Amino acid sequence: MLHVETFEVGPLGCNCSVVADVAARRAIVVDPGGDLPLILASLQRLAGDGAPLTVEAIVHTHTHIDHVGATAGLQRASGARACIHEADRFLYDLLPVQAALLRIALPERTEMEGSLSDGTVLACGAFELGVLHTPGHTPGSVSFVVSAEGESRVFTGDTLFQGGIGRTDLWGGDSAEIMRSLRGPLLSLPDTTLVIPGHGDGTTIGHERRHNPFLRR
Ligand SMILES: [Zn+2]
Ligand SMILES: [Zn+2]
Repeated sequence: MLHVETFEVGPLGCNCSVVADVAARRAIVVDPGGDLPLILASLQRLAGDGAPLTVEAIVHTHTHIDHVGATAGLQRASGARACIHEADRFLYDLLPVQAALLRIALPERTEMEGSLSDGTVLACGAFELGVLHTPGHTPGSVSFVVSAEGESRVFTGDTLFQGGIGRTDLWGGDSAEIMRSLRGPLLSLPDTTLVIPGHGDGTTIGHERRHNPFLRR
């Protein structure tokens, strides 16, 4: 069975998700933006009485500071690799500038693999997390799709929110590109796909297709 726990972390309330195959004792962590103890507690809760879950990978929908705050600590605790889309590497190099602009404490840095490309598939026990490149909020913004037991979920980061879309006025943002990402790969997903955005409440592709003011024609 696929288990997904989503909870707010960090100074800007980034949605962090633990995606786990509990039977296989494996998990992928999406967007560890802060609050490492909450993330470790989720991994322990999902493990039940057994050994802690093995973290296969730490993945990021994009490399804004509020999505990477606990990455180094989680990597140290789990030994997992940390992955971004290579086109966002400049943002990781700009962390001190992001910290100053947003008045957030500068997080510890770590090694980021630029291994998330469009079409990349990450295995997590019996499940696979597929990568869609959905640039616009940042050049290396990606969405993650996971399907199990007839239910699909997409983690959209700050590209698509319930009733909104991501801002494009920060480093490398592009408003035409985010619209292409939304109307292309994201709105191509079935209406029933659950959306877990980078901030705020979850929604579905169908709900956003019909009600999101930025997507209605
Ligand atoms: Zn962002
Ligand atoms: Zn964010």
